Amino acid sequence: MISYMIRVFIIFSFALLYSEQTHLLPHHISYKNILGYDSKVGKVYEWHDISRYLQELKIKKFNQPNRGLSIRWLGTFGFELSDGTTSLLIDPFVSRPTPKEQFRPLHIDTDAVNHYVLRQGNNSTIKAVLVTHSHYDHIQDVPYILSQYLDNGIQPILIGNKNTEQIIQSYNKSDISWIGPNNSLEKIQIYVTDFSSKENAHNQWNIGRFKITAFQGLHPQYDFFSWRGPSGLIESTPPFYVWDYKLNHNESIGFLIEYGGLKIYFSDSPFIQNPKNIGKVDILIQTIASREMENNIAECIKVMEPIYYIPAHYDNFFKPLDEFSTFDPVIGFGFPENIFGDTETHLIDFAHFDSFITEFENEYKTQSTELRLLKLLYYYSIESLVLKK
Ligand SMILES: [Zn+2]
Repeated sequence: MISYMIRVFIIFSFALLYSEQTHLLPHHISYKNILGYDSKVGKVYEWHDISRYLQELKIKKFNQPNRGLSIRWLGTFGFELSDGTTSLLIDPFVSRPTPKEQFRPLHIDTDAVNHYVLRQGNNSTIKAVLVTHSHYDHIQDVPYILSQYLDNGIQPILIGNKNTEQIIQSYNKSDISWIGPNNSLEKIQIYVTDFSSKENAHNQWNIGRFKITAFQGLHPQYDFFSWRGPSGLIESTPPFYVWDYKLNHNESIGFLIEYGGLKIYFSDSPFIQNPKNIGKVDILIQTIASREMENNIAECIKVMEPIYYIPAHYDNFFKPLDEFSTFDPVIGFGFPENIFGDTETHLIDFAHFDSFITEFENEYKTQSTELRLLKLLYYYSIESLVLKK
């Protein structure tokens, strides 16, 4: 009897282990050869190797660090900012369709969203979803995330622009199975940003202990094209094709998020309009892809004086996170190579991460005396960024 129980136990354990491995866990992603940078030390591969020589940089304004304030990367420009009670999502994107799937109507990978974003239903802390712009790599997963709050009355609010609202309303009317007969997106509170007046007061929200301010921005032009992606109003119905995710007036919203004196700015563009209006921040998280045609990263660092700079949107988002065992900093637009099986060569690398490190060393770090370039790791405890006296 005992040996029978042991055998059942072993089989059960293997089954558990196997089910865990169907999705890679954050610490399984290898960041080998992905550089970080410290203005005093230079290039850094592994922070823990040098941390004993370095005095930690201090975020001075963060007077009362709240234990547990954390930031989690959710693919591309996706983040979760959380203090354990209130969580905000910014552009969560884990569906990551492959190049071949880009030519078909896009389906949300609900499995991946459940695992990486909703953490198998443990989602009651998500109070707001912020969308910078309505391209699929920023908004694709949002309708499904919002639809998962039907019965419990704790739906997060949604902040975005006109097209973001249109995508949600269009999903709500669709017959996609997880929308359900009761139109699960019907009651979502959507706040559409309005930059028509100079006052930014109506583009501000207090959510838990977070204060959010939206700033008008412009989507970057793609490298080698002077084009910002499909634009216009959303007219089609879901499931959408890649090209149905249009931009409203080429707009991309930047979000300033304040928490207990700490200021974090999220810019999904390497060009920030009027950084002086935003002012000084502690952490600047910025898209570095498509910065060939226009970027003002050096000016942003000079004016906004971040202590930590986290480059974002340079992962190869044509690869599902499950296959992302080694961080791949090449957004290689592989068409048509991948289609015919000739992988390895890329027509365009929208990230050009290697040259970013050189640019950082030569142009950006000189704008500031103390600056640290963090790798786009899967998880930061913000507490760990604050120097303890
Ligand atoms: Zn993008």
